[in-house]
Amino acid sequence: MRVYAVIGYPLNYTLSPSIHNYVFRVLGLDAIYVPLKVSPSRLRHFVEFARDSLSGFNVTIPHKVSIVQLIDGTTGPAKELGSVNTVVNRDGELLGYNTDYLAIRQALSERGYLGGDALIIGAGGVARAAALALRDLGCTRVYVMNRTVERGRELCSLINSWGIDCEVLSLQRDFGIKVQLLINATPLGVEEGFPIDPRNAGAELVLDLAYRLSGDTSLVELARRESIRYIDGLEILIRQAIEADKAWLGSFERPDWREVLTVLRGR
Ligand code: NAP
Repeated sequence: MRVYAVIGYPLNYTLSPSIHNYVFRVLGLDAIYVPLKVSPSRLRHFVEFARDSLSGFNVTIPHKVSIVQLIDGTTGPAKELGSVNTVVNRDGELLGYNTDYLAIRQALSERGYLGGDALIIGAGGVARAAALALRDLGCTRVYVMNRTVERGRELCSLINSWGIDCEVLSLQRDFGIKVQLLINATPLGVEEGFPIDPRNAGAELVLDLAYRLSGDTSLVELARRESIRYIDGLEILIRQAIEADKAWLGSFERPDWREVLTVLRGR
């Protein structure tokens, strides 16, 4: 039997086992996916265990950056971002991928996004993956709005280094910019109202990386009320999981993310 895992610390409730175990079942694989709590001080030990015992694993907060030094290599966007969320074990060699980037890029591309001006709210790991996807889809102007302005500046410097105009804004309700795409890369809107009205930013498309299994986030509610097209965080979560499965198993046709979403919501 192949064994896969997700590691994080603290590892709160995660939907990943439900998604991957469903995919394995549909594909008829003798495989299982389990959540493992791994503290930062045990990460090195875990990696040696994984080399011998796991076929692959996902990585979540706080290990996405620190894992890079402990594995044998990274590919494409994971290398550029210095951040890994999926590790493939090829005969004892551990290779890191960033499937958040792939999921975001795919979803935006499928909605016809062609590089219009974008506002990213947040400046953490997934905001970086989103920024790289924007670059690769032809975006030439990005605004970054973050609670900690200094961290927003760091993301803007990275975006500038790719030859893209970037301006940092503090997290505020009123601002005088117009963008085509608004991306939320913070947990805002899961427990409380969302502080920014996408209509004020002129957004035609909203990507909310935050998600709730039962019901919509406040940002998705706002977008729907204002007839703005949106992509929700569950879609990205499922897409990144399916891309991880493809990295582990090779390409497959079914299931697609909509089928998995129906199963998750029906549980
Ligand atoms: P991260 O690296 O820890 O970054 C967190 C970001 O959220 C930072 O910009 C932080 O601002 C901001 N933030 C946190 N709490 C806030 C608050 N109360 N008010 C305003 N800003 C706040 O985490 P991450 O991995 O980028 O994840 C960010 C969000 O995306 C999380 O909700 C996560 O669940 C979600 N996510 C979803 C997917 C998916 O597949 N759908 C994938 C990855 C992440 P400061 O810099 O000021 O701390």
